[in-house]
Formats: sequence, C-alpha cells, structure tokens
Amino acid sequence: MMNTPNSDRNNGPDCNGAMLQLFELLDGELTPEVERRVRSHITSCPDCFTHADFEKRFLAALHAARGDGVAPKQCREKVMSALRTAGFTG
Ligand SMILES: [Zn+2]
Repeated sequence: MMNTPNSDRNNGPDCNGAMLQLFELLDGELTPEVERRVRSHITSCPDCFTHADFEKRFLAALHAARGDGVAPKQCREKVMSALRTAGFTG
C-alpha cells in the first residue's frame, strides 16, 4: 500500500490524520477547508465513520453529563485513555 506523507496531504488526511483531527472537528476547531477534508475522509471510510460516530456519542454523553458546564479536556482525555486501555483503539 502506497502511503507517503505527501500523497496523504494532497488527497486529504489518512485514517490516522482523520482520527487525530476528529476531536477538533467535533469541537468546531478546524478551519473550514481542513474540516471538509476530514469529513470527506470519514464519510468515505467505514472504519473512520464508525469511530467518528462513537466519539460523537461519547462527546454528547459527556456534554449531557457535565451539568455545570465543566468538561475539561483532561477529563475527556482521561476517559478516552481509559477506553484505549480497555482495548478500544482508533
Ligand atoms: Zn479512515
């Protein structure tokens, strides 16, 4: 499988890149152009789509649970890290 950084950059993110930017996308922190590339990868990649759907639900649950508006990124990262430790890998 040809997978050079340059071709990935030209064609949009690969799976790793898309997943790295997924949280930023869900937080609305990406520029419109980067967001479009990440979304286009996710919608055309079943693996990433499943992962993105999971993280969307995860963030929604987190937002629903935070109550007072306190949802520090460390908390989110702690939960994600626990999920990864438990065998969930992106
Ligand atoms: Zn992918």
